[in-house]
Amino acid sequence: MWFRQDLRLADNPALAEAAAGPVIPVFILDETEAVRQRGGASLWWLDKSLRALARDLEARGSKLILRRGEAAKIVRELVEETGAGAVCWNRLYDGAVIDRDKSLKAGLKADGVDCRSFNAALLNEPWEIASGSGTPYRVYTPYWRAARERIGSISTTPAPDRLEAPGSWPGSDDLDDWGLHPTSPDWSSGFGDWTPGEAGALQALDEFLDDGVARYREDRDRPDRPGTSRLSPHLHFGEIGPRQVWRAAQAAAARGASEGQVDKFLAELGWREFHHHLLFYNPKLATENFRPEWDAFVWRDDEAAFRAWTRGETGYPIVDAGMRELWATGYMHNRVRMIAASFLIKDLLIDWRRGEAWFWDTLVDADLAQNAANWQWVAGSGADASPYFRIFNPVTQGQKFDPDGDYIRRWVPELRNSPTKVIHLPGGGVSDLFAADDDRSGPHYPDPIVDHGKARERALEAYSALKAAGEGETPR
Ligand SMILES: Cc1cc2nc3c(=O)[nH]c(=O)nc-3n(C[C@H](O)[C@H](O)[C@H](O)COP(=O)(O)OP(=O)(O)OC[C@H]3O[C@@H](n4cnc5c(N)ncnc54)[C@H](O)[C@@H]3O)c2cc1C
Repeated sequence: MWFRQDLRLADNPALAEAAAGPVIPVFILDETEAVRQRGGASLWWLDKSLRALARDLEARGSKLILRRGEAAKIVRELVEETGAGAVCWNRLYDGAVIDRDKSLKAGLKADGVDCRSFNAALLNEPWEIASGSGTPYRVYTPYWRAARERIGSISTTPAPDRLEAPGSWPGSDDLDDWGLHPTSPDWSSGFGDWTPGEAGALQALDEFLDDGVARYREDRDRPDRPGTSRLSPHLHFGEIGPRQVWRAAQAAAARGASEGQVDKFLAELGWREFHHHLLFYNPKLATENFRPEWDAFVWRDDEAAFRAWTRGETGYPIVDAGMRELWATGYMHNRVRMIAASFLIKDLLIDWRRGEAWFWDTLVDADLAQNAANWQWVAGSGADASPYFRIFNPVTQGQKFDPDGDYIRRWVPELRNSPTKVIHLPGGGVSDLFAADDDRSGPHYPDPIVDHGKARERALEAYSALKAAGEGETPR
């Protein structure tokens, strides 16, 4: 059983298949160029998740074998070493991984080794949903309508009680030697609220369905409230699967949770599915504009501005609070992700790919499909994207979604004493605050690096130039 992004025992079809006989659970850290290498925050998570999986396997009489290197080569070596008669895994939907898996499967089959793959990650696999004309969907609403209809009744399988061990175990790396946890410096001191692993995932789901889902529609846009499930890293690493989430949410609705609230939550899982569908049909989604007319857009090179954005020092409080939350915890609230991404792309005119790469490195839920599709959505270059001329105003967004300024005070300590009526203004209102006694002792919150009004005009001009140049082109 080759574990990849399915680090769980329950509702894991590949494991269920492999567990019919003696099974050797394996995880391989693939460090080859062929697959995109995980960022630092992801590796932090992976470290803890593998420890949890190993413990869960040991509790069932099994263990987790760890190897690092070129995954396909290692799988074949392990087959030879152990005499395994079959290899099972759950499918992934990123082009580079699909190519690798396909050729591995062909090679194993040619060697007479049975090779089986399964779906553990999605409610519907990308090719199962097609428009009336048989083409992939490019717009979410009709996609989700068709996808929902196909879901029907879902069954999930429990974790196996015992796993039969092989006659002898192959050698394994020691996880400590992989050095996935950061040292010198250890920047993860603020990651303590997370519990990576299957048990942590189930707990997050239970807590959300017991409490948060009742106000999901209202609170999901409020970064100052614990209004969302925080399941994204668990889903990315497959510590829980969407079928389990779906079933539990339906059960919560049957117990009396509002169907409207549950539906809104499930529609977010729909976005996750839609993005996998997009990535499957557009394997270069993380590196190329979905709409090729965007290739002509002229981005600015501005290292100082990019650095200020990454450090949460733009002088726009809601943007800075988000970027600092991200750095401290490996997570940023969805509403603030949209505001921060819009600021980078539209106020600073910096290429969305640079933002995507920064998120890739710093998010614990960094996911090829979700990250790329969302960045392209904000940029306007994506499928079903937000129109470029809709430019988030970071001041009014802050006032609307963090009305008391609590989220800002939490992440931007320089603004702790800033009154609510000015806290969202560029510079956080501190210049008004200091005007009275001119006391500038203590950390100084940065002045805004751009004027939003002027930046907005500049962005609209750049967009008009692109439109004028590209009139009439058809999307890829
Ligand atoms: C610029 C940008 C980059 C993003 N990068 C990622 C990423 O790398 N990985 C990632 O998982 N999400 C990404 N998102 C989507 C979203 O912000 C997170 O999924 C969400 O904040 C996770 O919090 P939650 O689990 O509490 O969400 P909930 O509101 O509880 O939603 C439940 C689940 O639905 C899915 N979901 C929710 N919103 C979205 C969305 N906009 N797109 C796709 N799926 C969604 C997630 O799997 C989430 O766990 C990004 C959004 C933006 C704007």
